[in-house]
Amino acid sequence: MDDCIFCKIAQGRLGSFIFEDDELAAFKDINPAGPVHVLVVPKKHIPGIREVKEDASIIGRMAARAVEIAAEMGISDTGFRLVVNSGPDGGQSVQHLHMHLLGGRPFGWPPG
Ligand code: AMP
Repeated sequence: MDDCIFCKIAQGRLGSFIFEDDELAAFKDINPAGPVHVLVVPKKHIPGIREVKEDASIIGRMAARAVEIAAEMGISDTGFRLVVNSGPDGGQSVQHLHMHLLGGRPFGWPPG
């Protein structure tokens, strides 16, 4: 989608990746909520987790990739959080499916 910021990033038209393959891209969050804050996104425009439907297996591949990035960033042992926000109450602000990888400090529960 031309007006989607994460489509632009995932297509290499804006910013830079820390990971890319045929299906997924990962890049640093512009407003990090911790020492490590990476977003893993599909290159295909999917508005959010409610719309994955027949592509649901992509969530597993996004999570597996986030776990690999966590290991590469040295936060596997201390731990990390994977988050997918959905809709207004879930705090989703960008309407392109993305998974947050957060780490490098303790995160409280429940979230605010
Ligand atoms: P969410 O609130 O779950 O939709 O998360 C969207 C995330 O995208 C937020 O953490 C933003 O800081 C981040 N973000 C928005 N625009 C950009 C951008 N151009 N590059 C990197 N991260 C972005």
